[in-house]
This record gives sequence, C-alpha cells and structure tokens, in this order.
Amino acid sequence: MSNELEVEALKNNKNVIEIARGNLPASCPPHSTQTWDLHPRVVLAFDDNDKAQCPYCGAQYLIV
Ligand SMILES: [Zn+2]
Repeated sequence: MSNELEVEALKNNKNVIEIARGNLPASCPPHSTQTWDLHPRVVLAFDDNDKAQCPYCGAQYLIV
C-alpha cells in the first residue's frame, strides 16, 4: 500500500489499514504516512477480532 493510499484511508475513514503482526504495537497515525502529525500519536488497542479503531481520526486497523 502506498503512502498516498494510507493518507486517503485516514481521511475517508472507509478503508481498513492492514498492520503486520510483526509491526505491533501499532500506533496512529502510522509512522510512514504523511499524516504523522494528524493528531497526537496513540497506541492502538486491538480487540479479539484483531481490529482497532483510532479514537482520534476513526481510522480502522486490522492485523494481518
Ligand atoms: Zn488516528
């Protein structure tokens, strides 16, 4: 996924951003994107379904 697509995902809150299990713990905004200063960095809390939603921007994450 390109950085551009990740930025669009964060803006639109429609797409799920996939996080490799090896990259946990994950935080939002992701380090690699141009939205790194979108809001204060928050560590994502994944639920039993390996999903998480950022409380600041609403971006959805899934462990793959
Ligand atoms: Zn966020």
